Amino acid sequence: MRIADSFLAQKILLRYFNPRPYSLALSAILLLASVHFSVSEAKPKGLRTKNVIIVVIDGPRYSETWGTVPGHIPDMAKMRRRGVFFNNFLNDAYTYTNSGHTAITTGINQPIDNYGHELPANPSIFQLWLKSSGKPATAAWIITSKDKLNILGNTLQPQWQNQYLPSLNCGVNGPGTGYRADSLTLMVVKQTLARDKPNLMLINLMEPDGYAHAGNWNFYIRGITRDDRYVKQLWDYLQKDKHYKKNTTLLVLNDHGRHLDGIDGGWTEHGDSCEGCQHISLLALGPDFKKGPIVATRYTLVDVAPTVAKLLRFNFEQAQGHVITDLFPKKKLKQLNL
Ligand SMILES: [Zn+2]
Ligand SMILES: [Zn+2]
Repeated sequence: MRIADSFLAQKILLRYFNPRPYSLALSAILLLASVHFSVSEAKPKGLRTKNVIIVVIDGPRYSETWGTVPGHIPDMAKMRRRGVFFNNFLNDAYTYTNSGHTAITTGINQPIDNYGHELPANPSIFQLWLKSSGKPATAAWIITSKDKLNILGNTLQPQWQNQYLPSLNCGVNGPGTGYRADSLTLMVVKQTLARDKPNLMLINLMEPDGYAHAGNWNFYIRGITRDDRYVKQLWDYLQKDKHYKKNTTLLVLNDHGRHLDGIDGGWTEHGDSCEGCQHISLLALGPDFKKGPIVATRYTLVDVAPTVAKLLRFNFEQAQGHVITDLFPKKKLKQLNL
């Protein structure tokens, strides 16, 4: 039975299910039909998520984001109450862009080349999900302001190389063409969501990192505030869109932070294991998550991939990390066998 049929049945069921006697018989029939549909789809119990969107804001320091809310992130500070916020979330391995992103998409920390000349050693959630779902490449997208992040689409692992590749839109016009403004990346994101209705997407927004490296404090802060607004615009889009509302999980996180003041150039640089570089953040919103808590449990970038795999129901055994159980209400944890 097709998913659309099941939706329709449930919609009709909701419309007609009321205590008036003349509709009870019809309701009972539709209820039976609905049960039949969900069994035949083998839909795992308890999960509403059908789409996962990951937004990586590249390289802001915690002290300029969640360390001083609402501060420069007024929109996310408000959104926080609708999801779960993790204030002890870390990149505890290699604190630069390609490595941080690779940890997110493969669940493995590796000291990968940071200029886009090396593919990840392991397949990504995109490849694993495309294989398990049987969906076309347009169902999984990587859309990044940094051109060098096109490496996230493929792997060096021979069994997976050039297999089940996601769609890419990276930098100005692909690898070697330079970084693009985050406003343009957001435009591409919205166009892609409207056209392809993908179920899995990773977005990279680069302005905080780019302007910090340029030593421009005002533009670094402006980048943080812009990206805050873009996350809100994206969330609003997802809430209004008929395909995405009520079944979409949004994860907003960073690949790395920046040096604490006084360490190696301070806020302009990053890349070591200082608290400023390692301490990042995760805001998670979605139909399956708790609403409102601030979680102090320590989690790291490699926990994201197994969590996405759980949400999109595919096997994921390679991860160094674990499913982020603090996201889920107790009842849902039981249903998910967590
Ligand atoms: Zn950087
Ligand atoms: Zn540092």
